Amino acid sequence: MGASRRQEAAKLILGADSPAIAEGRVSSVQTISGTGANHLGALFLSRFYHFNGEKKAHISDPTWINHFAIFRNVGIEAVTYPYYDPQTIGLAFHPLLDTLDTLPDRSAILLHACAHNPTGVDPTREQWGQICDVFLKKGHYAFFDCAYQGFASGDLDNDAWAVREFVRRNVPLLVCQSFAKNAGLYGERVGALHVVAPSKEAADRVKSQLSVLARSEISNPPAHGARIVSLILNNLDLFEEWKRDIKTMAGRIIQMRDELHKLLTEELKTPGNWDHIVNQIGMFSFTGISPEKSQALTEKAHIYLTQNGRISMAGLNSHNIRYFAENLDKVVR
Ligand code: PMP
Repeated sequence: MGASRRQEAAKLILGADSPAIAEGRVSSVQTISGTGANHLGALFLSRFYHFNGEKKAHISDPTWINHFAIFRNVGIEAVTYPYYDPQTIGLAFHPLLDTLDTLPDRSAILLHACAHNPTGVDPTREQWGQICDVFLKKGHYAFFDCAYQGFASGDLDNDAWAVREFVRRNVPLLVCQSFAKNAGLYGERVGALHVVAPSKEAADRVKSQLSVLARSEISNPPAHGARIVSLILNNLDLFEEWKRDIKTMAGRIIQMRDELHKLLTEELKTPGNWDHIVNQIGMFSFTGISPEKSQALTEKAHIYLTQNGRISMAGLNSHNIRYFAENLDKVVR
């Protein structure tokens, strides 16, 4: 990505009218998709962040499993903070807030910007506000991982709300951005790392260090996918078309959630509460079923899901949803 392309990518996540971009406080580098952004962000922290005590990054329990290895690879220990409450199949909000409050000042904390993987559980705006309060009080560093912008609500701006709110309130942060899912470019590995610095001078220094790190590891990022993204971001018609496509994709997933919920609660009267299916967001859903039941679904019905009960909502469609609901009903009965 050239400089203007990187800035377009920054605008997509931080907002076209972001004062941080206008003030030159954002350092952006193209990365090997979201994974590369996480790696470069972690490497950057490992080299340059003034850790308060031990070199630790705090990640949600559970999280995308690769986070552990990514931090370990750069000499940072990844430790978890409470996030998911199996009782409510929702957010463990107070344990989360309390833990953030008791961590050492200036801790580095990874947050999923939207559509949390694997739970599909996101904080509400009000809860984000309270999380942000704790970050400011403690001087924590926010390491935002944004792999699914657009997939949660179908609206790119809406899904970037938490990141923009943290930037607006001057929480020190970086954002890992992936175009793998929202632009359907998984195989092209298009992503970016954006570090928001307190001043233009600091951002310039960050940029220079990021360039050195990226050069030593990948020399140059792949061009093809980045050109496609750039074409979309710089052409109003294509951009509008892409936004419509994202809405269609996310809308279909949301519709599958509604239908699954209806089938389980109204038609099959499956035991238990299934409201989490519609309360969760994005392409993943934590069903709340045990590893044994997950395994039974795979063995008896050839329904493939992770052992922790996570299903891909994107894998459901009008042809297979009833089959899934009926078999889920059978294993939980
Ligand atoms: N972060 C999270 C939370 C993810 O779920 C994923 C993809 N599974 C990534 C990062 C990596 O994304 P990419 O495919 O763009 O490397």
